[in-house]
Amino acid sequence: MCPKRWWFADIEGLRSPTKTYHRFGRAWHECLEEIHRWWMKHDLPYPGNGVDCVWCSGFQVAGTREACTTCEGSGRGPVMRYKYALRTARNGEYPVFEDDEVESEATRLQAAFDGWLRVYGRDPSARLKVVAVEVAAARVIRGPTGRPYCPETLLIREQDGDLRIAGTGEATGQQVGDNSPVTHTGEVISVRWPYYQISRFDCVYQHRTTGVLLLGEWKSSASPRTLVDGLNVDPQTDGYVWVLEAVRGHGFIPDGKIGGYLYDVTSSHAQHGPKVLKPQKVKVLGDDGEPEMNGSRYVYEMNDDGTLDEDGESNNDATFKMVSALSTAKSASVPSWLFQKAIVDNGLEPADYADHVTHLRQTVDPKIYIREYGTAGPQARKRYGEEIYATAVQFANSRRAAARATSTSDLNIAFPRVPVCRLPGGTCAFRGPCMQDGDDARASFERGTKQTWTNNQPPSAGT
Ligand code: SF4
Ligand SMILES: [Zn+2]
Repeated sequence: MCPKRWWFADIEGLRSPTKTYHRFGRAWHECLEEIHRWWMKHDLPYPGNGVDCVWCSGFQVAGTREACTTCEGSGRGPVMRYKYALRTARNGEYPVFEDDEVESEATRLQAAFDGWLRVYGRDPSARLKVVAVEVAAARVIRGPTGRPYCPETLLIREQDGDLRIAGTGEATGQQVGDNSPVTHTGEVISVRWPYYQISRFDCVYQHRTTGVLLLGEWKSSASPRTLVDGLNVDPQTDGYVWVLEAVRGHGFIPDGKIGGYLYDVTSSHAQHGPKVLKPQKVKVLGDDGEPEMNGSRYVYEMNDDGTLDEDGESNNDATFKMVSALSTAKSASVPSWLFQKAIVDNGLEPADYADHVTHLRQTVDPKIYIREYGTAGPQARKRYGEEIYATAVQFANSRRAAARATSTSDLNIAFPRVPVCRLPGGTCAFRGPCMQDGDDARASFERGTKQTWTNNQPPSAGT
């Protein structure tokens, strides 16, 4: 991590306005959340289609429209809600998409949703029961002595009594540079509060017979394989499991041995059906399976009312039997289920395409939907506990350094540039302000709010 980047993001709170892929990612998350919530609540096959709300439109749940908090009474399922959200944005101040793009975005999500249900099925897993969906949990970070880590943290007590973390220069009340104005009129206080790791679990599974717990994590990505491969060194999952270890058996997550995680990654690419070739005349096949010839001409199948003249020609073009076909050459990246759907939609013979469908099932489908199981044993969790302590120490020191800075030199020393942006594949949203900080460079960012405690009682250290 580049310290300068951390300062831009965490102390200065600069945020790029939400990107499109985030919106899709969030919408995808809602789709999987709905399916898993259904499984958690009913442990029965998921009946939805993405279009209608399963919680209030009369499938198997009783409920009133007004009471539905998921669709807010609209009766819409997750795909439709995404479409309407984009459409509302389209008519609002910050349109993200044109009208036709809104349609294709909704189609992209619907295809991903339908495909997921085809690949994994509507039934809850026979081995794993969903026991929690979308829950926030926290675990206190401990130092090497085993005591909760409670570093000095500088806060601002605002006039209304709220407490918030002190920003750049705010502890000394000096403006540092032009871009980090000291706005508070309150009092600076120093506290020693515990640091927590906070996680939001997408879902928690429990093995139906062994009781082992598994953490479920859902993602969508333009390159699912790369994402999954990168997980081996990414401590994020270990971190989730480390938090799970502390909260199981409390509240709504049952107790159980910790197994590991299940990553469910879906391609965010649009899925397209095969190219349908123009209708063609059907050749008559002889007993040897070869096309029948009349002299140098092929013989074609006729419709019921068609007749051939003496030369084997039709007396009327309209009487030839015309059949369309699906291009196999141009459908190398079509998911098998969309190819199968096109066979049905075009009234074609499934047997003619069986080999190609098998081929797609083996080569294309597994690249769109990937599931990866992994373990995070006691060693991995211990390692994470130590690493997160180191990270917390770094953050606490950096926050104090920023709050106490009195000059840009102080900032340069506390937050040097370590250009991770220059690594292969590296990027950084803060290139502009990093090169030359100023109002112009910051104009494309929003400024987030700082961590605030509206209740100024310090939280107590727990497990
Ligand atoms: S542009 Fe590079 S050096 Fe500058 S903050 Fe970003 S990662 Fe760091
Ligand atoms: Zn509803």
